[in-house]
Amino acid sequence: MSTITINKIKIPPGKNQHIEANVGSLASGTKINLHIHVYRAKKPGPVMLVTGGVHGDEVNGIEIVRRATEENYFEDLIQGTIIAIPIVNVYGFNNFSRDTPDGKDVNRSFPGSLNGSLSSRVARSLTKEILPIIDLGLDFHTGGAARYNYPQVRYTPFHKKSKELALAFGAPFTIASTPLLKSWRKVAMSKDTPILVFEGGESKRYDGLTIQKGLEGLKRTMQSLGMIKGKMKKLKTIEIKKMTWQRASEPGMFRWTQKSGDKVQEGEQIGIINDPYGHYERIILARKTGYIVGHNNAPVVSLGDPLFHIGFDWNE
Ligand SMILES: [Zn+2]
Repeated sequence: MSTITINKIKIPPGKNQHIEANVGSLASGTKINLHIHVYRAKKPGPVMLVTGGVHGDEVNGIEIVRRATEENYFEDLIQGTIIAIPIVNVYGFNNFSRDTPDGKDVNRSFPGSLNGSLSSRVARSLTKEILPIIDLGLDFHTGGAARYNYPQVRYTPFHKKSKELALAFGAPFTIASTPLLKSWRKVAMSKDTPILVFEGGESKRYDGLTIQKGLEGLKRTMQSLGMIKGKMKKLKTIEIKKMTWQRASEPGMFRWTQKSGDKVQEGEQIGIINDPYGHYERIILARKTGYIVGHNNAPVVSLGDPLFHIGFDWNE
């Protein structure tokens, strides 16, 4: 692709550019800007978007993009273009929140609208300004509050390019999952643009393993596309085809005895729930044989709370 234009700024091949694009302002009048780093090789090639912080409190995703930028992952591109946005939901980041201040989720607001909520406006910037110029994207997320995810990549099932990309990334788990309605992945898919979602750790908490696996996957993907030199070792990934949540059958104090990344057998002990008064103890047994891809770190759980996310149909 020749010259690309973002936020009315023209960026020719061979040039790097830092762009601040206004996406609105707070009630105080403080302007909210997206920081967009653009890196372009002279030689044409894939245009890849790298995003973090679509959910403002998902710090591992933000840290992965920040560190890749700081450590010059994108400075010496052989071919193609990288567009890196460390924080998409700047509002949520400032409030330590997944959502924007009006309670909306950016990743349920696509394609977005210029007259819509804060989330909708942020979503529109990506849909209008970025989606038309990219060939693919890596979107770095983090698990929920107290819900730990083992480092994993999610791709759109039955879409060949998405699966190839997911396998090139090489996260510990590669999961086929249908994109949610009004999500970034879904809207991009309508233009046949594959977006991989990386997940790892839990929100508001750094996780070293997740950051390391995210950075390695990013590098491996760029190498597989011929954007940077070198060839990293292919990582053994476990392909998960089906997952189920095992939930709390009673409320109480919860401790896991098996955790994310562990392989468990049906009927094996994976956790314990006690009442807080020392009257009873319930042993939690795995309902399926498979891999734990996510678990709950909350010490107190209610009836029906998700405890373990188990991938039970897999290839390795
Ligand atoms: Zn997220």
